[in-house]
Amino acid sequence: MLRADTDDPRVVIVELCKLFYTLGWAQGTGGGVSVKHKGRVYMAPSGVQKEMIDPRDIFVLSEDGATVLEGPRLTRNLKLSECAPLFCNAFTLRAAGACLHSHSTWAVLATVLDETSREFACTQLEMMKGIPGVGFYDVLRVPIVENTARECELTERMAAAMQQYPSTYAVLVRRHGVYVWGESWQKAKSIAECYDYLFRAAVEMKRMGIDARQAPKNNLSTITTSKI
Ligand code: ZN
Repeated sequence: MLRADTDDPRVVIVELCKLFYTLGWAQGTGGGVSVKHKGRVYMAPSGVQKEMIDPRDIFVLSEDGATVLEGPRLTRNLKLSECAPLFCNAFTLRAAGACLHSHSTWAVLATVLDETSREFACTQLEMMKGIPGVGFYDVLRVPIVENTARECELTERMAAAMQQYPSTYAVLVRRHGVYVWGESWQKAKSIAECYDYLFRAAVEMKRMGIDARQAPKNNLSTITTSKI
């Protein structure tokens, strides 16, 4: 069972994968989780049912992700995730402690709210405060990169977006999903939940005819109560 103080990266990955499956972030073998621990990178395998992996199925890589130090048990013939270089972007460019990849429907829909835009934006939603450095009255921006035929080909686009948006903790991939990171697995989990909430809120607001990018026209400070 996952506890807030669990620090065994294999257990963390297995339990987070189960949790993310229940959230709809890792259906059909999609999505993934990677954790950096004591100078090593731990990663779930590719193309497997993420909610059914075992701690023995986890790959262990060098800190730069270039070398596989330990493979999973041989009987399952597992492959390293195509997301590996993308996860490593978060470790090398942001000194992250964990990075996750979600195929959440809300993340996908957030990328098509405006197909001409290269960023997702929203303002004045309380859950924005769950993203480090973001306040209620700020505009939260998340870069959107275009999808590619193979996931590993996204590596450079993701890195360029991270450099262009130095305060972001996520990169959306159009019609595909999102990569989210944090300084620890606990923070990455919480930040990812906040982003997912905001993506959903923006999609639902659009359905209601409200643009999440715009501040409300009538802030409470300007509303005068009418006499009954
Ligand atoms: Zn993916």
